[in-house]
Amino acid sequence: MASPAPLPPAEADPGARLVLAEHLLACESAVACARAVVEWLARRHGAPAACVGPGDGPGASVCLASEGLTGAQQAALARAWDAPGSPLATFRTRPGARWLAPDALEGAAMPGGFFAVPLGRPGATAAALLMVGLPGPAVPEDVAWVASSAGPHLARQLASDARAPRRPEPDRLLRRVINAVSDPVLLTDTDGTLLFANGRAEALLVAGPDASPGRTRAVELNQRLFRETLAQGGTSVHRREVPLVDPLEGMDLLFELVTTPVLAPDGPSVVVSVLRNLTDLGRATQALGESYRQLRATEREARSERHRLDRVLDSVADPIILTDPAGGMVMMNDPAERLFAWPQVHVQGPEAEGAADEATLRRVRANDALFASFLANLLGPVNAGVSRWKSQLTLDDPATGSPVPMEAMANKVLGDGGELTGIVTVFHDRTEVLERARLLERVKEVSSELEARVQSATAELAEQNEKLRRQAIQLEQASAAKSQFLANMSHEFRTPLNAILGYTNMLLQGVSGEMTPPQRRNLTRIDSNGRHLLEVINEILDITRIEAGRMPLHLSDFGIPELLQEVMAEMDPIIARSKLTVDTRLDEALPGVWSDRQKVKQIVLNLLSNALKFTHEGGVHIAAEYQNATGTVAISVKDTGIGIDVSNQEKIFEDFQQVDSSPTRAYGGTGLGLSICRRLAAMLGGRVSLQSAPGQGSTFTLHFPRRARRT
Ligand code: ADP
Repeated sequence: MASPAPLPPAEADPGARLVLAEHLLACESAVACARAVVEWLARRHGAPAACVGPGDGPGASVCLASEGLTGAQQAALARAWDAPGSPLATFRTRPGARWLAPDALEGAAMPGGFFAVPLGRPGATAAALLMVGLPGPAVPEDVAWVASSAGPHLARQLASDARAPRRPEPDRLLRRVINAVSDPVLLTDTDGTLLFANGRAEALLVAGPDASPGRTRAVELNQRLFRETLAQGGTSVHRREVPLVDPLEGMDLLFELVTTPVLAPDGPSVVVSVLRNLTDLGRATQALGESYRQLRATEREARSERHRLDRVLDSVADPIILTDPAGGMVMMNDPAERLFAWPQVHVQGPEAEGAADEATLRRVRANDALFASFLANLLGPVNAGVSRWKSQLTLDDPATGSPVPMEAMANKVLGDGGELTGIVTVFHDRTEVLERARLLERVKEVSSELEARVQSATAELAEQNEKLRRQAIQLEQASAAKSQFLANMSHEFRTPLNAILGYTNMLLQGVSGEMTPPQRRNLTRIDSNGRHLLEVINEILDITRIEAGRMPLHLSDFGIPELLQEVMAEMDPIIARSKLTVDTRLDEALPGVWSDRQKVKQIVLNLLSNALKFTHEGGVHIAAEYQNATGTVAISVKDTGIGIDVSNQEKIFEDFQQVDSSPTRAYGGTGLGLSICRRLAAMLGGRVSLQSAPGQGSTFTLHFPRRARRT
């Protein structure tokens, strides 16, 4: 079919009428003319339009061209051409355009009504009718102009078409049917020349004279693609995909082209092509593929999540069970399986093994029953609003049969809509807790037992203490009585002893006449023993007085040098007898002291007398110094005598203690001197220290504060 060059858009060209006129001149068929007119009007006024012609005879009228009308509307307009009673039938014989209301023509609904314009030679019956959907009743100028200029041309073409040898065309019904098909359908000859196209196919492959350049280009591209695809087909039915372009929106479209060659009995062969739009299908397939991929990915993710969850659950030491809303077990971890899952039965051993398996199954069944009744509580109507349920169950270890005290905690799992989707139950073994509680109880028992024992021991101790206190008081009283007794006795001994010594002295001095040498010797012995006894009695008296607190401190200011001079003077006869050298060395900075002079002197006298007694050769060295840092005075008596072993250095300060206390000892004495010194030094706030070694002499030192404090 020859097609004129496409029309330029009417709006963009002020000389649109001229363009249409030229276009019409180029048209070689009535259909092309009708299409040019319809498109021109539709484009120019944005209105639906159609051109209806007579066809091959009565009842065969056709819609030569249309724009903006459905296939049904086109068919209705075509029918109205010569239908009995149709207003269009009368219009054909009357010149001039008329406006018809929307309801004037059944089935040919143009919502706002339309103009019916007869087309043909002036004065003759209309060769065709032009229908334009514009509001009336005034006839638009363009419509009137088209009628006058295109009408004669169309009439000529219709006459010439009628004279021309007939091309094979589908019959009218077929054309209607094909027009009504929603897929594009085309009829071409074997060279690919378009013989017929339904509305859908025209929209893709035909551009009218007024088509925009964009549409024209799109249509040309589509025609080329279509022809190329068509040329690939043979003489058999062919299916292939053809990509086209939507001429209106420029979108890519994908069609399936099904071509069927038809061999016409009375003419050349034609090819019927049906295009099926696969674009949406392709998109849907693509979307479906994407969904499927996503589904697979989600499924994989869910599987790995489930796997991970399984591993996590299995790694939890506590048994965990997931149940569905009806209480059916959905999932459980390994620890839960050991308690609730039916073990694999191995029927391989002797009967004893079979019996053991039976027992295991019984325990599992019992556990399951306990769990089911636990869940029933949570799922019961009473607990409808409760999301968490806790209870204590005593399960059986299926393997050993030993009881397993458990705390079960069930949580409802709710869906997005708040509906129950499952229940997660976590068990916690309470064996350890119970054992700890038992141990705690035992510890409490033991501790209260212990407390009772401690209480009784304390009471006993208190009793003992009380006894001891009483005994101490008794002892104190006894000691005081003893001291008193000793003091009294010493006093009573001393008086007659002094008298004895006085008389002995008088006798030795010859007051009662001269004595024979044996008498003098015996009397001298009496005197010597008497003095020793007096010494002992005096020392005992001192101790008892100190013990009884009857030896008070008499504090005074005195100088150490004078005191030592006095000591030396008193001891002079003994020193002379001993043949030892005795010297004194005094610290130059020796200050005066405030202490009990008599007691200091008694201590120094005692230390010096001991030094002289236990030294056979060498000498005795007396030194006195003041230790500023401690505020104490130290008077030391150092000898070159026999010395004292370390093991005895503590002992000799005790009452009646001597290094040698045997009856055959070489040195006389009572063993009371040093113990009195220790007591007196303590009264002064000081002490007596000793440095000595056997055969290397001894140094006894009195340390006492320069200024004594009255206690
Ligand atoms: P007494 O001298 O009367 O035995 P003391 O209490 O004065 O009693 O001395 C106790 C003992 O300490 C003495 O018997 C003696 O064994 C020892 N002793 C005291 N002074 C010296 C000394 N300078 N050298 C060695 N031994 C001593």
